[in-house]
Amino acid sequence: MVTAGELYVLTATVMALVALAAAIPVLRDIARDGRERLREGPASPVDDGDDETEGVRCPHCGTVNEVGYAYCEDCSQAL
Ligand SMILES: [Zn+2]
Repeated sequence: MVTAGELYVLTATVMALVALAAAIPVLRDIARDGRERLREGPASPVDDGDDETEGVRCPHCGTVNEVGYAYCEDCSQAL
């Protein structure tokens, strides 16, 4: 004969397993989104764009110089 306590433990265990099974795909999606965001985040292509818009790219060596300079700080050619 199954007692009420054993029935409660069995029910709680089954419910916990069902909840875990339902949560696994969601947790996997969250982990995958987090990894993709980490991969895209620190690459910061935005910073490169800022450098190009705020500076003058040397046509000879490609160095980005600050606006206002007439000669490249790296190769000294006229910008
Ligand atoms: Zn240069």
